[in-house]
Amino acid sequence: MTSKLMQEIKFLPGVGPKKAELLQSELDIFTFNDLLYYFPYKYIDRTRFYKTREVNSNMPYVQVIGRLSALQKTGEGAKARLNALFSDDTGVIELIWFKGIKWQLKNLKPGAVYVLFGKPSLFNGKINVVHPELDEYTNENSETAGGIQAFYNTTEKMKKNYLSSKAILKLQSNLAPLVRSSISETLPAWFVKKFKLMSLREALYYIHFPDSHQRLLAAQYRLKFEELFFIQLKILSLKSNRTQKFKGHVFKVIGDHFNTFFHKHLPFEMTGAQKKVIREIRYDVGSGHQMNRLLQGDVGSGKTMVALMCMLMALDNDTQASLMAPTEILATQHYNTLSKMLTPMNLNVRLLTGSTKTKERKIIHSELLDGSLDILIGTHALIESKVAFKNLGFVVIDEQHRFGVAQRAKLWQKNTIPPHVLVMTATPIPRTLAMTVYGDLDVSVIDELPPGRKPVKTMHFYDNKRKQVFQFIRDEIRKGRQVYFVFPLIEESEKLDYKNLESGYATIKKVFPECEIGMVHGRMKPDEKDFEMNRFKNKETQILVSTTVIEVGVDVPNASVMVIESAERFGLSQLHQLRGRVGRGAEQSYCILMSSYKLSKDSTIRLQTMVRTTDGFEIAETDLKLRGPGDMEGTQQSGLGFNLKIANISRDGELLQHARNVATDIIDSDPLLQNELNHLFKVQLKKMKQAQFNWSVIS
Ligand code: ADP
Ligand code: MG
Repeated sequence: MTSKLMQEIKFLPGVGPKKAELLQSELDIFTFNDLLYYFPYKYIDRTRFYKTREVNSNMPYVQVIGRLSALQKTGEGAKARLNALFSDDTGVIELIWFKGIKWQLKNLKPGAVYVLFGKPSLFNGKINVVHPELDEYTNENSETAGGIQAFYNTTEKMKKNYLSSKAILKLQSNLAPLVRSSISETLPAWFVKKFKLMSLREALYYIHFPDSHQRLLAAQYRLKFEELFFIQLKILSLKSNRTQKFKGHVFKVIGDHFNTFFHKHLPFEMTGAQKKVIREIRYDVGSGHQMNRLLQGDVGSGKTMVALMCMLMALDNDTQASLMAPTEILATQHYNTLSKMLTPMNLNVRLLTGSTKTKERKIIHSELLDGSLDILIGTHALIESKVAFKNLGFVVIDEQHRFGVAQRAKLWQKNTIPPHVLVMTATPIPRTLAMTVYGDLDVSVIDELPPGRKPVKTMHFYDNKRKQVFQFIRDEIRKGRQVYFVFPLIEESEKLDYKNLESGYATIKKVFPECEIGMVHGRMKPDEKDFEMNRFKNKETQILVSTTVIEVGVDVPNASVMVIESAERFGLSQLHQLRGRVGRGAEQSYCILMSSYKLSKDSTIRLQTMVRTTDGFEIAETDLKLRGPGDMEGTQQSGLGFNLKIANISRDGELLQHARNVATDIIDSDPLLQNELNHLFKVQLKKMKQAQFNWSVIS
């Protein structure tokens, strides 16, 4: 890139100071180059006009020339709508607006000829277009030579100041001559040839001004591939640097702790998947570099046992181990489970949470330092600066997405030799996303549930079936089962949230007068929560009414029914997490999704997905498709620091895999990119902002 493209945007013909300011504040466009890399979000094929008779509802959009007539407003307020007719010599189409009616009425001219753009749909057997784009017919738009037209996202503020999509396109055309003269290739010639890529110069031109579908696809492919490739190359080269630079504890032996427990005290036979993962980890921690591994395993797949075996490995190699959980309930539960299983092993295991008393705290601090504390289990309290280990060798982080990168970094600082880190998550992350977000973590997967588990049966009911649902629940309770009722968290208002829960609780109490009912929610003190949870665990209550605080990890095998109220309000991964609370015992379990009739398209897909499958990976893939990667749980906190300009992780999964494979080959054969043939890669990597990738060395 030459310095010409680094000029401030205000110097581009057609921009000027006012527009420059808007481009900066609204779109982060500061230079010519920023504008060049502001890509269209869609294209419309203006290569032809249709006649009204040809239009059918399968077409993604159409362009028609016709006369506007019969503008008519009906209804008021939220029910207001505007109808009109649009006709040519072959027929008529109906136009409908639900919004901006005042504006349309003021500006549209009945009787005038317009060029219409829009998505046709079929309603009551008639073709219509909702919210069409209408341009008065002029000499300019009467030509089809416009070809495939690019559309750019702009904001309301920009539109008000005449910076519409069209205006941006005009600016791009002012920039085009410069593109032709000053763009130089960013990929080595051999690479461009090998992967049959369009040149960068052409791609940057045709992405804004495509003259055919073929060229547009080639331009998109080139730019997406390059974008994904460089991210992967960066991640892999950082990882390769990290493994060279940071030496990890070498766990040389599988010793007494591991063996004794494995042969004498294991409460069950491990599944093949658990054994496989332990083998993967064992190999990793023996290799001399520091392990950073993500363990994905569906709820109930037995991750805790894997964690325990790893911690024993650490003890066998004269280091300490630690397990960190996101909530006090979970940390306590882990502590109880693990210390019970470890009773015959005579180890020093302790719990540290926010409510640990000062006296106990002091003991913990000093035992950690003198090395007499073997395993410390806890919450965020573990990463307080006062907590220092003598020799921390292995850290397990349960339910990873609750922990931010910064917090993990703190753990890292607790030792000169960094501990091995195992991050466990029950929210499966689609492979493509994991590759980018956790690109430098190794990934292990438990893809098998312990034997004898019956998959949870999931059903969806509308509110009018409540009576039958309650009857069903009553029958289950009579059989000795226990039931969760979960109400959604209304984040904007904790008060409302509580009210929702309160009234739900009152209803349930009325419906099940014969039952003991408990309630937990986020506003309770930890010991109150624990008290209620324990009552449920000990079967003193049959029904537990709660918000999503029971989402993660809570283990009550006798609870076999999970009722999720207003299920349409939950995200997919959350629904999946909640469902994981049941199906932990030998009995058939049920998940009942209650919803209102009014469901958006996305909520319908979410509920259908839940009914159809219990496969966490399938659910995660669907979630990614519905929400896009930006919203996926975990991505925010894990510090996904790069904004993709053109590629889309949910849609371009295959290309991402391809880019990763290509990058892997290159880093494997030339880790430092010293080969002259790879020189351009090195130049590009240097340009990529270091700051964007800081997370990858601390995770
Ligand atoms: P998660 O992966 O959700 O953390 P847990 O580790 O809590 O799952 O395990 C869920 C339940 O399954 C626990 O009660 C645990 O004791 C049990 N479990 C784990 N592994 C096995 C196994 N191999 N065979 C039988 N039960 C197992
Ligand atoms: Mg767990």
